[in-house]
Amino acid sequence: MALVVATSIAGAREAMEVAPKGGSSRGLVPTMGALHEGHHELIQVARRECDWLAVSIFVNPTQFGPEEDFDTYPRDLESDLARCRQLGVDLVFQPGRDEIYPATHRTFVEIETVTSHLCGRFRPGHFRGVATIVLKLLNILEPDRAYFGEKDAQQTVVVRQMVKDLHLPVNIRQVPTVRDTDGLAISSRNRHLGLRERKAATVLFRTLKEIRTMVLQGARDAGQVRRNGLRLLSREPLVQVEYLDLVDPETMQPVSRIQGPVRAAGAIRLGRVRLIDNVLCEDRDG
Ligand code: AMP
Repeated sequence: MALVVATSIAGAREAMEVAPKGGSSRGLVPTMGALHEGHHELIQVARRECDWLAVSIFVNPTQFGPEEDFDTYPRDLESDLARCRQLGVDLVFQPGRDEIYPATHRTFVEIETVTSHLCGRFRPGHFRGVATIVLKLLNILEPDRAYFGEKDAQQTVVVRQMVKDLHLPVNIRQVPTVRDTDGLAISSRNRHLGLRERKAATVLFRTLKEIRTMVLQGARDAGQVRRNGLRLLSREPLVQVEYLDLVDPETMQPVSRIQGPVRAAGAIRLGRVRLIDNVLCEDRDG
């Protein structure tokens, strides 16, 4: 089937009328565009698992704070459409701001506890914006499965909490983080890094891997592990640390004793660019 591009909700619903029904599955990959290898992987996994696949491209203003990079966030619609066409996507939903947030818009989704640490703590209102746009997209495109990246693991937890609490009939799938060869998690924001910053950025994943090693070797004092991680990050003078924490992977609450799987998550700034990453530290042999 040829790719359909819809900029209105009515247009998206029209395209969905030709989608297979009755026992077949519809997929959705929500994105903010400027598609890269990370999105590519999500789309490929979704394409394999679903009979009909929509990708949404919308730089969602409500998840950006007033001092954040909404205006400079990369946008590249032509190449996004080419990539979606190449990957066999059925529908690209690319609404304008007024289609999603008309002047009369008044409703937002607020999710408690799982948003209180990590990015939720440093980006007030961010997950309120994320949950609101995801709920809108689920309502508009009615997927059976929606795909999210592990790079934004807290986002997946927030969305799963919303799906459970609001009884939404959708399966949330998480896809592992895609990395550059030197380990840096691929992100739309990486293109704003200068050469020296790009090199320095690898310290985040190196630190998270080091933390994972400490945990798998039996470290139990999360505070001590965290301090060791912070010491590693501080060796890179271009990097400012926003947070580095070890959290329970289900609740996203910081742990003090490591007694089961933990997620090590960090956010750093390099100049004006903010980067996040995380790894699951889980002893698979128990
Ligand atoms: P974004 O366009 O940045 O909002 O990302 C859209 C989706 O792609 C989110 O679910 C992200 O978690 C996911 N994503 C972004 N970067 C990566 C990556 N490097 N690997 C896997 N998924 C990613």
